[in-house]
Amino acid sequence: MVIKPRIRGFICTTAHPIGCIKNVEDQVSYVENRPSLQGASNALVVGCSTGYGLASRIAVAFGCHANTLGVSLEKEPEERRPGSAGWYNNVGFERSAAQRGLYARTLNGDAFSSAVKRQVITRIQADIQTIDLLVYSLASPVRVHPVSGEMFRSSIKPIGSPLSSRTVKLDILRGKCEVENIDLQPASDEEISATIQVMGGEDWVLWVDALQEAGVLSSNFKTVAYTYLGNELTWPIYRGGTLGKAKEDLDRARDEINTKYGGSGVEAMIAVLKAVVTQASTAIPVVPLYFSILFKVMKEHGTHEDCIAHMYRMFSDQIFRSDRRVDDAGRVRMDNLELDADVQAEVKKSWETIDSSNVQELADITGFQSDFLKLFGFGRSDVDYESDVDLQQRTADQSTP
Ligand code: NAD
Repeated sequence: MVIKPRIRGFICTTAHPIGCIKNVEDQVSYVENRPSLQGASNALVVGCSTGYGLASRIAVAFGCHANTLGVSLEKEPEERRPGSAGWYNNVGFERSAAQRGLYARTLNGDAFSSAVKRQVITRIQADIQTIDLLVYSLASPVRVHPVSGEMFRSSIKPIGSPLSSRTVKLDILRGKCEVENIDLQPASDEEISATIQVMGGEDWVLWVDALQEAGVLSSNFKTVAYTYLGNELTWPIYRGGTLGKAKEDLDRARDEINTKYGGSGVEAMIAVLKAVVTQASTAIPVVPLYFSILFKVMKEHGTHEDCIAHMYRMFSDQIFRSDRRVDDAGRVRMDNLELDADVQAEVKKSWETIDSSNVQELADITGFQSDFLKLFGFGRSDVDYESDVDLQQRTADQSTP
């Protein structure tokens, strides 16, 4: 079947299997062309199929030659409908790992559920016995609570007062874009607490509790979860909004894990990452405009990183070392290049004057557009998008009945 991008706003409902697999191979090559890493032998990555989770898994597997287990929630291909991008990314990851003799297994299921946690533990016990790294990289709009069964939906809203800001309306396929005003009403208390339920730290703690109870944590076990802080242009919608509240809860969860298990060698960390185009980040209003201005400035400064460059630097310079760059809240700061004073001054200057007439000049719309298409395996010059492609590509666990 021939697969073309089908895009509405910042949602693409198709994915190209070959393009996705090649994107993974590029990330593997990026890591293999750099000095090898040391720090993990057996890793579990929750949220392993796209964005920062996928890049973390690639950095650790191909940098440290680690065995990896991944968990993600992706759409399986149907007879005439492609699977989701993450589905094919997982296929690409397992193939690249198998070619190098590396153990890799991927579970497709709801990471918030107790059943999936049990399945992962059974798999660890059978195949790799213990893990020394857990990367927690979930980004989800919903969570069914594993005890109460209640379904929570996250909201991306400001808190306290309405927000009037600007965002970009982008026709990805034609590259046309307009800068638009956007007005958002503040979240209710219920929406704030539901967002904390979905994107906060409770589930991260439940993962560590379950793994510890099952006795599958090695004596030097580390775990890292990801957050974003950004700058004052995005604070009203991110740091000061519902997502920021959920991320504050992640800090609380880190302290809870360290208090409970620090005595047995467990170390939990939060890493503050830079802005990158992912399925999760493009869903946040205001953010695509800020990102595309930022990418232009960072590219001009020679400091722009994509997911894999950022994750490789994080593991090599920070997570696997003891001399980490931490802030006064103890978070590992990877956003130092994004928040560089000169970069931010230029971003703010562009933000003040940007409108539909100069957006192509002041923002890296072409880069944003190409990053977005790439998320779904499109826009590569080495893939023939007019050819039939086999949609039915599966990871090892999905191939066996
Ligand atoms: P993403 O959308 O690319 O990845 C989300 C992952 O979560 C996917 O693997 C998906 O399958 C998985 N997932 C979602 N719901 C699931 C469920 N119920 N069960 C199992 N897996 C599930 O997102 P991302 O941008 O890479 O975000 C990952 C983390 O990084 C988030 O905590 C995010 O806040 C953080 N972060 C992102 C940015 C950014 O700019 N993208 C910046 C800083 C921090």
